[in-house]
Amino acid sequence: MKIVQVSAELAPWSKTGGLGDVCGALPKALVKRGHRVLTVAPRYKAYEDAWDTGVRARVTLFGAVHDVGYYHCLRDGVEHLFVDHVSFHRPGIYGDKSGAYGDNLFRYALLSRAALEATFRVPLSEGAPLGEDVVFHANDWHTALVPLFLEAVYRPAGRFESAGSVLSLHNMGHHGTQPRSEFDGLDVAPRWLPAMDFDGHLNILKTGIALARKLVAVSPTYAREIQTGLGFGLDGLLSARQRDLVGILNGVDDAWDPTNDVHLPAHFSADDLTGKAVCKAALQAELGLPVRPEVPMLALIARLDHQKGIDLVAEAMPWLMRQDVQVVMLGSGAPEWQAFFRESERRNPSRVRGWVGFNEGLAHRIEAAADIFMMPSRFEPCGLNQMYSMRYGTVPVVHATGGLADTVETFSPAAGTGTGWAFRSFSAEAFVDALGWALLTYSRFPDAWRGLQERGMRTDFSWDRSASRYERVYAATIRD
Ligand code: ADP
Repeated sequence: MKIVQVSAELAPWSKTGGLGDVCGALPKALVKRGHRVLTVAPRYKAYEDAWDTGVRARVTLFGAVHDVGYYHCLRDGVEHLFVDHVSFHRPGIYGDKSGAYGDNLFRYALLSRAALEATFRVPLSEGAPLGEDVVFHANDWHTALVPLFLEAVYRPAGRFESAGSVLSLHNMGHHGTQPRSEFDGLDVAPRWLPAMDFDGHLNILKTGIALARKLVAVSPTYAREIQTGLGFGLDGLLSARQRDLVGILNGVDDAWDPTNDVHLPAHFSADDLTGKAVCKAALQAELGLPVRPEVPMLALIARLDHQKGIDLVAEAMPWLMRQDVQVVMLGSGAPEWQAFFRESERRNPSRVRGWVGFNEGLAHRIEAAADIFMMPSRFEPCGLNQMYSMRYGTVPVVHATGGLADTVETFSPAAGTGTGWAFRSFSAEAFVDALGWALLTYSRFPDAWRGLQERGMRTDFSWDRSASRYERVYAATIRD
């Protein structure tokens, strides 16, 4: 099949969270399975490995004609096009200190139109454009207008007659809601307004949900949850489209492999965890914490957003500080939680590190060094860090929601099963209770701990498994 993945983020070129990781990894897995994959993402800055194709397209939006360029890169067999336009050349991806950029609808509508144009216009490494018999795979609200433009602009003009469309839902918390008055700017016929309208506003995510032929939620549990309370108001529409909606867990990219991770001072595997102890000592030294091999190290890495349940960590902190533990936290986002990080470290300088900022290398070193990973998310569509943790022998303690419920199985000492702790009620009591079990098992039952680590490390979170499921969705979306 020929797949065109359109997304606002594409790791390693651009990333604020899991969306970037997934969009970077899935195409590689699809190419390995024999498909041709083109990704289309913005050129937020000058990428060293992407070259100007010299091809340009003109797109009418918001009453003006906009000229876009395309930069190309072939990597791991995946064709990448980066859409070049001045509105993408900014310090932040979605916004800056004063909030989201006011023209995000324009920016991502432009990306979506540019992706459709690129498919038949821009020659790829074999000298020809990808063509029109493709499946468009849009991701989240930013690119949820791809199915709209496909149906409203291109098919009526006789283009993409056999093309399919899929929309992945990585996070229902962002709809890209806009005033209805913006509709005219999109340059589509008035009959498309009802597909976009939601409570008197334009809802971009809703548009994609209504018009994409198939929908994917990033875990089976999330696929159910978003029809029954976690759909941020779109639950009804999603359950009406139940037959076209499937849940597919994300996989773990090869960059997260403790046997050869470039960010680590030592490597390790399920058979030999010696290198993990080296990583722990190195991180303690790096962060200026006492180098103590036996002390349990608890970690947290997250965007500091309401979704992530940092409030439970804050509530648990006094209890944690009564235990003999080290706590290492890395994140950036909401100022109140950044302040919590700094304050916790200030109060407990020999036991807590709260690193504010985005640091890819440190995230890898923390995953490798820690013993326990805390992920008490309010909701979590899929979640990657709990899977990274398991791969790195770091036992996760998670709230049983979305992909966390699908990937972390609570330890059963009697059965000798489980890979961590997944607590059911979203409360500090339940979180502390689960942490208590984790700490007890760590300190008193080393063999049981080793079993937890090994089962997590041996779980198959490969992208190949997820890619084979996407393949079935793509195939079902193509009409002859
Ligand atoms: P989300 O997509 O909601 O942010 P995920 O768990 O799916 O959550 O993905 C988070 C990704 O972002 C992981 O790769 C994680 O390591 C990374 N990440 C989040 N915050 C930071 C940070 N401050 N520094 C480095 N990496 C981070």
